[in-house]
Amino acid sequence: MEVRRRSAKVVTFGCQMNERDSETIMGILSSLGFEESSRVEDADIVIFVTCCVRENAENRAFGNLGEMKRLKEGNPNLVVGMCGCMAQRSDLREIVRARMPWVNLVFGTHNIHRLPELLERVFAGERVVEVWDEPDEVVEGLPAVRAYGHKAFVNITYGCDNFCTYCIVPYVRGRERSRRMEDVVAEVCDLAGSGCVEVTLLGQNVNSYGRGLPPLPSGSSPDFADLLHEVNLVDGIRRIRFTTSHPRDFSDKMIEAVASSEKVCEHFHLPLQAGSDRVLEMMHRGYTAERYLALLDRIREAVPGASITTDIMVGFPGETEEDFQATMDVVRQARFDAAFTFIYSPRPGTVAARMPDQIEDEVKHDRVYRLIDLVNSIASEVNDELCGSIVEVMVEGPSERDPSVLSGRTRTNKMIHWTSEKAHNPGDIVMLRVSQTRTWTLYGEEIEGRSGYRGALTCDGHEAAGEEMQGRTASSSGFATDGRCDCNDV
Ligand code: SF4
Repeated sequence: MEVRRRSAKVVTFGCQMNERDSETIMGILSSLGFEESSRVEDADIVIFVTCCVRENAENRAFGNLGEMKRLKEGNPNLVVGMCGCMAQRSDLREIVRARMPWVNLVFGTHNIHRLPELLERVFAGERVVEVWDEPDEVVEGLPAVRAYGHKAFVNITYGCDNFCTYCIVPYVRGRERSRRMEDVVAEVCDLAGSGCVEVTLLGQNVNSYGRGLPPLPSGSSPDFADLLHEVNLVDGIRRIRFTTSHPRDFSDKMIEAVASSEKVCEHFHLPLQAGSDRVLEMMHRGYTAERYLALLDRIREAVPGASITTDIMVGFPGETEEDFQATMDVVRQARFDAAFTFIYSPRPGTVAARMPDQIEDEVKHDRVYRLIDLVNSIASEVNDELCGSIVEVMVEGPSERDPSVLSGRTRTNKMIHWTSEKAHNPGDIVMLRVSQTRTWTLYGEEIEGRSGYRGALTCDGHEAAGEEMQGRTASSSGFATDGRCDCNDV
């Protein structure tokens, strides 16, 4: 008789931090003998990794947890768990504890490593709620079931010390802690050894990486620039991304590290949040609009062809029409490749939630629609300028909408679609000529030739000639846009 292995499903809401936590949770469950289930209906354990950054994220999680009541009635042995940022909030976990008796396990973001012990107690019949308010040491060496083979998230910091006045993160993810550089590099080496070619270094503020770590042998304190240089040396890794950056902490040393590390992609996600200095100060962001724009200038000068994306919030308490126009003005000057736009959502426990002059929903919606129109029209113009250029693309796989079309990402993190006669696997690098553009997407045609320094088209002729490729980026290389290398050797 075939014995069915027990199975588990981890359902993730929210940001990349949660996605990475979910990989660890599934890794722990796998080490306990559970196989991954594709559907909650088939699983013996379902764990929801929740997000509380906005109210609608909470509502979605509560809705999903509520639906588990019906499944539990049909399968009383089903274990339902909740962790993530909502579990860290005492008011939200109290709702679950008091009103959702079918949830057997609640744990937080700081004690994921305790999951085996917690589950043992659940299997013994106990209803377990264990959430740590403060993080312990950074726990290394936890197993992970990675979502993809060719790309992976790698935490470099946990938590945040910034206390932006609207943000719940420092309260639910704890104070900022950096992983030791050797641990980060060892994880990247392991990933490269298993076939991963792209890593995204993750932190709430990657630019403050290193605070509190012991000094390097040189005596200086390690920082994000040092880490980029080290990760850039890992054989097998072809692309390095990082998120999220804080405009206040992005130093010239870090810009130089990106510019000189050929595997580090030319994409910067720099949350602006607001363009009014008055609002930025109320948000406790630590920069002015002028400083933000000056940073973009320095990045664009040092890293030609860089794409810059951002997050912008409208409707912060006290935001006037004049403040909002200041944001629109910065957007016009910054010419973002893309922007995630948000309506301010008061988060209980934050300073901004207690501020006077909360903005009416109607006003917030009107502002966000005007902002989206502007962001879209600029993004469309920026993409139009790419028409005809040659870009290095990493294959992601068949397009979700049309499996006969391939999807991939440029080094600048733009989604591009194309058709190919060749069989490509996720993680393959191909060269495309951009043939059409849309606001958020590019379309391309595959061309011959290989990716050289920083994604520039290269060929045997260039390599035989030992040509110095430095500085010849895909978008500024001077290579012929008909897809032929300029030495005519392809
Ligand atoms: S930098 Fe500000 S917005 Fe970002 S996680 Fe930290 S407190 Fe929140």
